[in-house]
Amino acid sequence: MLSYDEILAHLTEPSGDRLERLRRRADALRRERVGDVVYLRGLIELSNHCRRNCLYCGVRAGRRGIARYRMTIDEVLQAASLAKRFGYGTVVLQAGEDAGLSDETIAEIIAAIKQKFSLIVTLSLGERPDSAFLRWKEAGADRYLMRLETSNRRLFEAIHPSGGGDGGVAKTTDRVAMLGRLRQMGYQIGSGVMIGIPGQTTEDLARDLMLFSELRLDMVGSGPYLPHSDTPLGKAAEALALPQDDPRRAALLRQAGWRYPEADRQVVPSNEMAFAMIALTRLLLPGANIPSTTAIATLDGQHGRAMGLRSGANVVMPNLTPTKYRALYEIYPNKAATLETPDQTHAAAIRQIRDAGLIPESDRA
Ligand code: SAM
Repeated sequence: MLSYDEILAHLTEPSGDRLERLRRRADALRRERVGDVVYLRGLIELSNHCRRNCLYCGVRAGRRGIARYRMTIDEVLQAASLAKRFGYGTVVLQAGEDAGLSDETIAEIIAAIKQKFSLIVTLSLGERPDSAFLRWKEAGADRYLMRLETSNRRLFEAIHPSGGGDGGVAKTTDRVAMLGRLRQMGYQIGSGVMIGIPGQTTEDLARDLMLFSELRLDMVGSGPYLPHSDTPLGKAAEALALPQDDPRRAALLRQAGWRYPEADRQVVPSNEMAFAMIALTRLLLPGANIPSTTAIATLDGQHGRAMGLRSGANVVMPNLTPTKYRALYEIYPNKAATLETPDQTHAAAIRQIRDAGLIPESDRA
């Protein structure tokens, strides 16, 4: 078992031989514990409506000038049928916290996917009352993904202001407790963090990893934080780039609404850091499902995904959202695969898995 100090040492400027050795160790453990098959989870982005105002997210309620969409049940089933056709075992239903998607509508979608395609259903729909989670479990949902984003409570509160579009309050949420309740309801649980949030330190990331291990998560997906210029945190990043004594700095930060005392401390949101996080997650949770995430593929479209897979990851989540909606699910800019059709995204994922010398789940279908 890795100690906190060992984890911290690996996260301090991960690069060169030290990072290579860590990646190789995680890669070998991945092979031993979960094998060479890479699991494919078809991602369906149901809706970009959101009542929250997360400071980092491009679909936050307060963002004007973005068209909002909500897929119809038929469109969702059509996307799920592609997952079946491509030989994936799972679909992931993800959305902003959209009050227009009722608990019953979601339950209907889950039941129809189970009945028509017998796929595993993972939900990533944010925070809802326990009654909704129970209803969806009853309808057949298998897994729930809810990122902690960061286990640093003060930083969490700074990036999740109270008062969403309809007054939705995230501030007091205890996501650890929520994940515990989801597990008790029978869900497999997944979480993860963003890497490189302004103000986040390597110590924070080390504590995130320890917490993943304590929670015995079934799935862990972490990825680099990617600034979106039309969000408060994206605007704050421009201010943070100015020298400390520049008089414009404080004013710009105030304007962006970013008040975090240690705002200047920041882990670099690089893929090297993401690979180190994946590798350490594998070492701490040898049997977990760990995706090589879209944010990693966004930072390095050529090699990112394959490198993530050779750092201990064993899951890829190809996007099956209809092309006409993809650009609108703009949580951060230049998101990988935005202009592709689902067939192209599928083909690219298979190529990247084979590039990594691994076997796509669909080869066994
Ligand atoms: N609303 C649900 C929730 O909050 O769990 C699911 C959708 S939310 C858009 C999915 C994930 O997108 C979040 O957990 C967050 O980590 C990630 N995300 C949002 N904005 C991001 C950004 N600027 N950079 C990297 N990841 C981001």
